[in-house]
Amino acid sequence: MSDAPKPQNFLAAIVEADLRAGRNGGRVVTRFPPEPNGFLHIGHAKSILLNFGLAKAFGGRTNLRFDDTNPVTEETEYVEAIQQDVRWLGGDWGDRVHYASDYFERMYECAERLVREGKAYVDSQTQEQIREGRGSFERPGVDSPYRGRSVEENLALLRRMRAGELPDGAAVLRAKIDMSHPNVLMRDPLLYRIRHAKHHRTGDRWCIYPMYDFAHPLEDAFEGVTHSICTLEFESNRELYDWVLDSLGPWDPRPHQYEFARLALGYTVLSKRKLLQLVQERRVSGWDDPRMPTIAGMRRRGVTPEALRAFAELIGVAKNNSVVDIGKLEFAIRGDLEGRAPRALAVLAPLPVTIVNWPAGEVEELDVPWWPGEPARGSRKVPFSGELLVEREDFALEPPKGWRRLAPGREVRLAGAYVVRCEEAVRGPGGEVVALRCTYDPASLGEAAGRKVSGTIHWVDARRSAPAEVRIYDRLFAVEQPDAAPSFLDALNPDSLRIEQGARVEPALRDAPPGARYQFLRQGYFFADPVDSRPGAPVWNRTITLKDTWASRAAPQPAVEARKPRERKEPAGATAAPRKTRAGFRADARAADPALRARYASYQARGLSAEEADLLTGDAATADYFDAAVAAKAAPASAARWLLNDLAGLAGDHPLGELPLPGAAFGRFVALVDAGRLTPSAAKTLLADLVAHGGEPEARLGALGLAKVDDRAAIEAAVEKALAAQPREVERYRAGEKKLLGVLLGAVMRQTGGAADAALVRKMLTEKLG
Ligand code: ATP
Ligand code: MG
Repeated sequence: MSDAPKPQNFLAAIVEADLRAGRNGGRVVTRFPPEPNGFLHIGHAKSILLNFGLAKAFGGRTNLRFDDTNPVTEETEYVEAIQQDVRWLGGDWGDRVHYASDYFERMYECAERLVREGKAYVDSQTQEQIREGRGSFERPGVDSPYRGRSVEENLALLRRMRAGELPDGAAVLRAKIDMSHPNVLMRDPLLYRIRHAKHHRTGDRWCIYPMYDFAHPLEDAFEGVTHSICTLEFESNRELYDWVLDSLGPWDPRPHQYEFARLALGYTVLSKRKLLQLVQERRVSGWDDPRMPTIAGMRRRGVTPEALRAFAELIGVAKNNSVVDIGKLEFAIRGDLEGRAPRALAVLAPLPVTIVNWPAGEVEELDVPWWPGEPARGSRKVPFSGELLVEREDFALEPPKGWRRLAPGREVRLAGAYVVRCEEAVRGPGGEVVALRCTYDPASLGEAAGRKVSGTIHWVDARRSAPAEVRIYDRLFAVEQPDAAPSFLDALNPDSLRIEQGARVEPALRDAPPGARYQFLRQGYFFADPVDSRPGAPVWNRTITLKDTWASRAAPQPAVEARKPRERKEPAGATAAPRKTRAGFRADARAADPALRARYASYQARGLSAEEADLLTGDAATADYFDAAVAAKAAPASAARWLLNDLAGLAGDHPLGELPLPGAAFGRFVALVDAGRLTPSAAKTLLADLVAHGGEPEARLGALGLAKVDDRAAIEAAVEKALAAQPREVERYRAGEKKLLGVLLGAVMRQTGGAADAALVRKMLTEKLG
């Protein structure tokens, strides 16, 4: 065992107990298994620190394994980014970087073995039939008609699947377990599916790909993993994990799966799909935008690996899911930077100051310590002259009570320099303050001079400071649970990035290398951007404020509330009343109107969530609209979802009552969708049309040709058309290139706008071709 400190969590306790009991021959092997379909985020960081930390503490090792069993979404770019991020966090996998795709051959051999031992069969039902046959929690499943196939037949079919003779979806390999198993996942789970798709590493070598539940335990076993740690949602998969291993053993060591609570963080989304959407829609500048919760984004913002480790320790490892307060992350970041970032002078929004009694033309080079009060830690020269700049918001013409900065007739200390007194505010043509005239006290240099004043402010020399781009980053989302908003995009914080164009920094910062960190006195912690900085012209990213500026404004709010009040350091004048939130208005509306209150309760009684009920009962017009839809036979849950997720966005600022689509017609639209008359994507198109132009849903459905195609004649026409358009593919298919069925199938589906029943299309297509 190594002498790294032992982590204190239930997983460490398990590992320790295993070692004591002499299990696994004293080995501890963990793995971090990312799917290369996006950049890693702070949730992954937690998993990385846990897996690498555990192994290290107990003298074991950790593998990095790319779980690349899904050919469609994965990319090499991500493989490289992931390695960089894991390494940056201190994860050391030695030479053990593995790819699930390297095991495809061995996995396939395992599949054949299951077939030979009567533990797996090829099922030729459609996806829908399989789903239907699986039953549910309340209802046992039913056996597939293909469940009784002989070993020989199964083996032959599996080999044909592998050889590419069957199109996508024509067959799957299933484990033969128990169709009435109480754990639905154990009802003959899928092991392999057909996917005629190019894989980023194996190219066209495979057209069948293993499912996660089959692949993952095997990957662990092949690598000799002892403790396979995953997140809680895989708890019921553990039974299948064990079935796969026990059916295909013996293994030494035999891996075991353990689950912990995934990290969920306030004011953040951690779904890779949503992060990808932010990148693709250019809501952020890329995966490494400093506002992103990605490891790359946080690194570029100036967060250190030590801060993330401190955060992981702070929150621990739990067995139940909860949302972690983002304040804890920010606390860990501040705590880390506090001890590593020297204090420097920068003025973000400058106001010129003339020191009227300063000797003309003279420049004094002040020796200012990087760490106030700790001169032994080094210092630098800071020029001081008769022309200075201070922060615009450090001056008030009419200071409020308790003001400790500049105002007419008031004195402050300029940090590391002299005490100055404001003699006059110079006004511009519009009456605005454009400059200050001050005097300085020559006997006041340094705190040691013993001159007491009520406040200290930061400053730079006007001529000898350097211009700099300063990027003021703030939380990317304005609400604690963006995922609870109808669309998480609505929850984006419009003020998450502000660029200070006119900022000036002290001369010593001009040559700061990319990656340098400073506290800008009284402003926050800043980091020289490693991407956009140029020699002599660093770009500064604000990593974090000095204090939690959100704590005061964030009284607990329901999720959907957008837009925090604008950030303000200290109100210059009367204290502004906290701005009321939209949730506040809705609550007030209900408090004033018993009818709304009653609807709020009755909507929940009809199965809507409290959030949905809240959003629908903030004003009578919205609730009336919803009631009209339900009266027109829309299911309340569907009507609420379509209204909040889609209609509200389409309506924009228009009150629902004024749309060309009345509530009743909207209800008939929802009923059409629920009756399966159109696909979800066609439904969105139809709704957009109705909102823009009005009309009767049924009639517009016909006019726009959006009805789901499930009649044979229409599909047949589409098949003919697609085949006529692809004569070469047809010829090659007939000459034996059976793989091309997938291509042709896709062509037909496109002909029907995706509206056709895929199983029916496949059937007709094979008939026509064969
Ligand atoms: P996907 O939605 O694409 O499956 P994922 O977040 O599960 O994304 P993976 O690449 O499969 O991403 O995850 C790699 C490892 O990181 C897994 O072991 C997973 O359990 C862990 N992990 C992912 N998200 C979190 C999280 N929020 N907290 C803790 N661990 C996480
Ligand atoms: Mg995953």
